[in-house]
Amino acid sequence: MNKKVISLLFAGVLVATAGCSQMKESGRKLTGAESDASTKRIGFLVYNFGDTYIAQVRNVFAQVAGSQASVYFKDSQNSQQIQNENMEVYINNKVDALVVNPVDRTATSIIIDKAKNADIPVVFYNREPLSDDMKKWNKIYYVGAKAEQSGAMAGEIMADYFKKHPEADKNKDSTMQYVMLKGEPGHQDAEIRTKYSVKAVEDAGIKVQKLAEDTAGWDRNKGREKMAAFLATHGDRIEAVFSNNDEMALGAIEALKKWGYFKANKYIPVVGVDATADAIKALEDGTLLGTVLNDAKNQANALFNLAKVLANKQTPNKENIGGYELTEGKYIWTAYKKITKDNLNDAR
Ligand code: BGC
Repeated sequence: MNKKVISLLFAGVLVATAGCSQMKESGRKLTGAESDASTKRIGFLVYNFGDTYIAQVRNVFAQVAGSQASVYFKDSQNSQQIQNENMEVYINNKVDALVVNPVDRTATSIIIDKAKNADIPVVFYNREPLSDDMKKWNKIYYVGAKAEQSGAMAGEIMADYFKKHPEADKNKDSTMQYVMLKGEPGHQDAEIRTKYSVKAVEDAGIKVQKLAEDTAGWDRNKGREKMAAFLATHGDRIEAVFSNNDEMALGAIEALKKWGYFKANKYIPVVGVDATADAIKALEDGTLLGTVLNDAKNQANALFNLAKVLANKQTPNKENIGGYELTEGKYIWTAYKKITKDNLNDAR
């Protein structure tokens, strides 16, 4: 085994095994196709392994890669510094391409500079680098979805519910009294979803009143805590719950259950984003009103196609990346989709 491969192993990377969806803690020997010089090596940096939605993207990526490439996964543990260090390991080991889910999307210029110096192309995903940073080099790409669309769809689901259910306006003041659970501040999906979900309700001709808004950092436990605090202050005056993702929405539902909701006809509409497996269960059991599919499968596919072409030192185009449109030569945008109890299968 050559020195570089050994150091990669000692660095504690995670390896996607050929043809297998499981990712194993390393220490495992690179054998067979993986040690073959013709097999391209992709370094994959994740902002936080604990994130449910991101884990979905990571798992599909590993499945799609199968035996087509060796993929090394590293957890940045929500620290940009750790991510930068992980990046060094991949550069020292001369991976052929990098896939990066930045911790801080405003701090990608360091990553771009390092990649450019080493001439290793980078595909960012989920946390969109600033457009000026995206212009710094012609071998950087981004795969993501338009946050405006998910926000608007979440708002439309809520507005439709209010129109069909006049009883949702509990105090009969023709205004939706809502609370908002926000994702991580500064993340485009937190800021923009928040704005566009409320805008969609207003655009549907419904007046809104914000009772409370707080960040719960994409996290289920924090979602539960923040919702419990909203209930302690506003109680049953709350008529609608928006959440920037499903994990926080599921936490909110736990708090609402404790408050007596979802039994004996006591109901409140809750809308999230992502369409994770647990969210689909909650749609089935009638606690979650709706969500918006953040298409992990499609994003992982696009990411892999792009990374593979780049690892092979080719220039990506629509044909060699599986038909995905490359906007401005560097962005792939996947579409969101509204999901409710009526079309659950579209999200499986
Ligand atoms: C997802 C969240 C996830 C976040 C991580 C968002 O697009 O909706 O569930 O926590 O990305 O960056």
